Amino acid sequence: MEDNGLTFFEETELTPETFEGLEKKVYDLRNLLEMGISLSSNLQFESLVESLLYSCIGQMFVEQVALLLQKDIDVNDYYIHMTKGYDTECKNGIVLLETSPLIGFLANNPYPIEYETLLELPDILEDLKAIAFLNPYIVVPLKSKDSLMGILLLGKKISGEGFTNSEKEFLHYVARFGAVAVENSRLYLMSTLDRMTRLYIHHYFEIRLMEEMKRSQRYNVPLSLLISDIDHFKRFNDTHGHVQGDSVLKEVSQLFLKDLRKMDIPSRYGGEEFAVILPQTHLEQAGIVAQRLRKLVEQHQFKGQEDVLHVTISIGVAQYDPNKDKDIKGFIARTDKALYKAKQMGRNRVALFK
Ligand code: GH3
Ligand code: MG
Ligand code: MG
Repeated sequence: MEDNGLTFFEETELTPETFEGLEKKVYDLRNLLEMGISLSSNLQFESLVESLLYSCIGQMFVEQVALLLQKDIDVNDYYIHMTKGYDTECKNGIVLLETSPLIGFLANNPYPIEYETLLELPDILEDLKAIAFLNPYIVVPLKSKDSLMGILLLGKKISGEGFTNSEKEFLHYVARFGAVAVENSRLYLMSTLDRMTRLYIHHYFEIRLMEEMKRSQRYNVPLSLLISDIDHFKRFNDTHGHVQGDSVLKEVSQLFLKDLRKMDIPSRYGGEEFAVILPQTHLEQAGIVAQRLRKLVEQHQFKGQEDVLHVTISIGVAQYDPNKDKDIKGFIARTDKALYKAKQMGRNRVALFK
């Protein structure tokens, strides 16, 4: 038809029902938008995951939510990463292997689906049994590009009703946001962690130290730094081989990671040197931490080829002093001097820079 410049249109009538429906849709979209913004501005993984779970509880009126994620940057099986609303927090157990049929199914069908519907598929029955204790009502795959980043499980609604199509659509978008956010934070983590020890890399350490020094000065809170170095490690390598040396490095870093607080920042400063930033910590307290680490390593039985092996570490500790430490180099140099002192005094020691 020729366009003669005339348009006829008819105003669609807004009945109370459609109006209410639209209002709800706008409300949901606004929530989705806010969630997207908060997820994409939130690189701190744990708080990201937590806000995702709380959003589901708040928006869907369910009591229980669980999130399964791949454990680590190298382990692709799915574990319970976080749960909300269960009597006891279920955590850590491996639930689904990367190769399990349910994972394959969800990767190919990345839409929210009722658990009951899944039960009709015989191939994945075993996998469903493995997650049954989480009382899932609806299963929401978190898919980003080609990989399944995780699985969100929502329990029954408080009202006892099922999920409407528009609620499933909402969950689908939440899952897409979530998947991208999970993927981003995994990439971020990967780029800041040393692959061998799982401690932060040197560059990340420097940036964080700079930030913590600024924070310490601005808010007048103490800040300490420790640097540890394995004693006679060259000799150890010569005697037991480099592979054995590597596994000692991994075990020592595990001891550090288990012992330190969440806010501490442990890094692989050099080959066999670890540096730990200790925010809100005075020299004396840092000395106590260092002694604890030193003893942990001294008492640890490292797995050897035939026998158990022992190593010791020396640690230098210093507290940030804005009058002395003009930049990170100055602060690190003072801590290094303390480490040198600990070596000089006979090793397997902690030295504090007063
Ligand atoms: P000291 O008690 O004075 O620290 O003696 P040391 O032999 O440990 O001396 P230093 O700290 O200078 O030597 C570091 C040695 O650590 C050199 C190297 O053989 C070993 N090393 C560094 N990085 C690695 C690594 O990634 N794997 C292994 N197996 N060894 C490493
Ligand atoms: Mg060294
Ligand atoms: Mg050494």
